[in-house]
Amino acid sequence: MQIYVHVPFCRSKCRYCAFYSEPLRPDSSERMTRYLTAIREEWAWKCARLAELQGTPPVITSVFFGGGTPSLLPAEALIELLDMLRAALPFAADAEITLEGNPESLITPGRLGVLARAGFNRLSMGAQSMDRNDLALLGRVHQPEDVRTAVHLARSAGFGHVGVDLIWGLPGQTARTWLHQLEAVLALEPDHVSAYGLTLEPGTPLAMDVEAGRLTLPGEATLSDMYLSGSALLERHGLMQYEISNFARPGAVCRHNWGYWTGKDYLGIGPAAVSTLGHRRLSNPADLDRWAAGVAAHTEPEVEELDAAVLAEERIMLRLRTCAGLNLDDLAAATGQDLLAGQGRFVQDLARAGLASLEGRVLRLTRQGMLVSNDILSRLLEPPVFCH
Ligand code: SF4
Repeated sequence: MQIYVHVPFCRSKCRYCAFYSEPLRPDSSERMTRYLTAIREEWAWKCARLAELQGTPPVITSVFFGGGTPSLLPAEALIELLDMLRAALPFAADAEITLEGNPESLITPGRLGVLARAGFNRLSMGAQSMDRNDLALLGRVHQPEDVRTAVHLARSAGFGHVGVDLIWGLPGQTARTWLHQLEAVLALEPDHVSAYGLTLEPGTPLAMDVEAGRLTLPGEATLSDMYLSGSALLERHGLMQYEISNFARPGAVCRHNWGYWTGKDYLGIGPAAVSTLGHRRLSNPADLDRWAAGVAAHTEPEVEELDAAVLAEERIMLRLRTCAGLNLDDLAAATGQDLLAGQGRFVQDLARAGLASLEGRVLRLTRQGMLVSNDILSRLLEPPVFCH
């Protein structure tokens, strides 16, 4: 089993962000104390429920501290949370323990060393860009040199895996400037790069600027060039693609996210955290106060029962994001759904257009297909393929 810990604090709100997080404010230190108290209670309560449901305690293979900006919490608080998880459930000897963080909160000398010694072994850093203008446009509070410093500090602190997150497709960006960004990151020799195409989230300042014509996004041909040439550059540097937006050196795939894409159970704690346990999905309120009040009252989080049709759709969506692809026999065995029975002709069309390949019973999107994966998936999952 995997554990996700949501830490809902950020230095300030980035201009493109729609994740649940609260920017630092004068009472943030009390808010953090409230958060830490509630998460201890939630963990104790969830462990007791898990023991009732599962009997034998599950072995933890990965923990991901995400957010938000988990690296904003004091190191002692992060270590205390990790120790709390370890005290309650058995951890695999090689458990992957990821800390997500932003460069400006990672460059305090000595801090990363303390965290590495306490057991954090993977750092996922939100760089987003190596260009000052892009960082200002995104509302990020760090500078490119902070990324360089943080990567060096993480290496010397002993973090086994260091990953860097970037966003491409920004207003004013060209394929050439994007490749420069990637080269600047590759010079730091990361073990992992997540390169996400910009998604404009309605209501964010960046989306409003684009809607009002104050900023212009790159056109489709440029976006396609960015994705294809950027992926090829990463692979030339030994970072092999394993998912639409993720590239890793051999042995450095993010096990936690891989587990998510391949349908492993995970337990989420913290506001906005989601858990998937078998056929049930539990979602915590995306609000620190409502979540903390619910924990104190032992109110069950919102529960969704996942029926066979939902499980089949999710398996198709998640597996087709990966380069390993979707095994149609496994899909049929797990869900009773035969994808080719309803969509055989569409799959053939995808293969003819170079957007997918069907080798034996494994369906994969090509890189061209990954570029338009949203369109392909919405067509693939159209009714009447699966009936609820
Ligand atoms: S640091 Fe991340 S979670 Fe926080 S506001 Fe920026 S994008 Fe959102």
